[in-house]
Amino acid sequence: MTESKSRSLAHNLTKLHTLIIGAGFAGLCMGIKLKEAGLSDFLILEKADDLGGTWRENTYPGAECDIPSALYSYSFEHNADWQSKWSGQAQILKYQHDTALKYGLENHLRYGCSVDSASYDDARARWQVRTSDGQEFEAQHLVTAVGQLHYPSTPSFPNAEAFQGQVFHSAKWDHAVDLTNKRVAVIGNAASAVQFIPEIAKKVKSLSVFQRSANWILPKMDRPYAKWEQRLSARVPMVIRVYRWYIWAAGEYGVLSAINGNRLTRWVVRTLCLRNLKRHINDPELRTKLTPNYPVGAKRVLFSDHFYPALARDNVALETASIESFTSRGLKTSDGAEHEFDVIIYGTGFQTNPFLAHIDVRGRNGLSIRDAWRNGAHAYYGVSTHGFPNLHMLYGPNTNLGHTSIIIMLEAQVDYVVRLMQRVQSAQASACEIDQAEEAKFNQEMQARLSTMAFSQVANSWYMDGNKITNNWAGGTKEYVRRLQQVDWSVYRLN
Ligand code: NAP
Repeated sequence: MTESKSRSLAHNLTKLHTLIIGAGFAGLCMGIKLKEAGLSDFLILEKADDLGGTWRENTYPGAECDIPSALYSYSFEHNADWQSKWSGQAQILKYQHDTALKYGLENHLRYGCSVDSASYDDARARWQVRTSDGQEFEAQHLVTAVGQLHYPSTPSFPNAEAFQGQVFHSAKWDHAVDLTNKRVAVIGNAASAVQFIPEIAKKVKSLSVFQRSANWILPKMDRPYAKWEQRLSARVPMVIRVYRWYIWAAGEYGVLSAINGNRLTRWVVRTLCLRNLKRHINDPELRTKLTPNYPVGAKRVLFSDHFYPALARDNVALETASIESFTSRGLKTSDGAEHEFDVIIYGTGFQTNPFLAHIDVRGRNGLSIRDAWRNGAHAYYGVSTHGFPNLHMLYGPNTNLGHTSIIIMLEAQVDYVVRLMQRVQSAQASACEIDQAEEAKFNQEMQARLSTMAFSQVANSWYMDGNKITNNWAGGTKEYVRRLQQVDWSVYRLN
């Protein structure tokens, strides 16, 4: 069916082969690969007015990637213009724009389309999708590419509404608030906070960082690329392939091995982190407070050259007493102290569970995904879940990583989804659905393996839903890519 024929605007209903929700790295990659496979009858619905996903949303000062850009980019789209090893938010967003343009995705992108619901019509084997402004779409295949780190998590502290100063979350940075000479509090000190704290520490009058847990932090050792390095990577593709491999191997055989509990690599990562701490923090009491009390890799290992030096500044204080409540002028902590602030910034991360919480997804016989996942999200390789035929998830349950680029996982998933679609088409079937017992078997394997990894050795993290690790993959990218290279058709039911 051609694109023009398949789009019927009658009754405000647009019919397509595939609908993709979300125009971040995952959604864009899906679009590119669908076009390559000749499955061009698709739209990417994006609720915002621009593409980019997390790189559009997170504009806080100092926002940059904590995976080197040579690897945190599509394997098929090398960018010789990266200015430094770890790129800033604006450059990554530009890369996404340039790539979308180069691969001709503009006509497939629909902005301002916030998907409210998606339900599967069993009789017709079609997904019916509605947006918040009443637009309706119908597609054979539905691909969710909504990310895991999107909706800011703002803990509900008692009396929060009483605070008279300004408050915002790092993922919704309020650039209208001038922090110069202000008394500022930051709640949280993880991946986002360690990036913006050094930036704002330079201009504020005072900064109090409220830490609940310390983090393992490796030095980033960033530097701008020399012109000759950029030219070399543009002209000699082998250079970039070797460089990607080197970055990948450091994560896969270094950090992942530590996460897996290997004593030697855990000791090495731990030692490098402690050396980094010692190098910048002279005060033994502060050093103790900044030393994590959980194994390396249980939470994301961070990279920063600037966080510890910022904490060593005279205008910066680390508060470790827990926050009891807000007051009209600031925060009250469990040690009875009252702290006064002009601005409070939440660096408290994202609501990562339940998955797909903001879309009412209903599969066969009206089965709600919330009910299907009431004991925690699960999916076969994070992509397929029983009861939801032709629903394909990118960056779904148990596909996050703590050691390397998520784009490797996304590309493997996208290729896998294309294979699923092609098989449905070639078999002249309407849909494919994962077998319930096979999905359960896969998830048992995941949970058994995850229970031996560092991720399971903290009481809570964004990787977990209650006691269950719902977000992370239980191995390396090499294994994931290998296992997704071929579809095991015996575990799918075609109908
Ligand atoms: P996060 O890792 O979830 O950290 C949230 C921080 O807020 C933690 O320090 C947490 O303390 C603290 N917190 C949460 N609730 C609190 C409460 N009620 N009271 C006090 N403190 C509280 O969030 P994030 O820093 O935004 O990072 C999330 C993920 O985004 C990262 O793991 C990473 O995958 C990704 N990220 C990536 C980049 C990049 O460069 N690619 C940059 C930023 C973020 P606890 O540790 O005690 O829970």
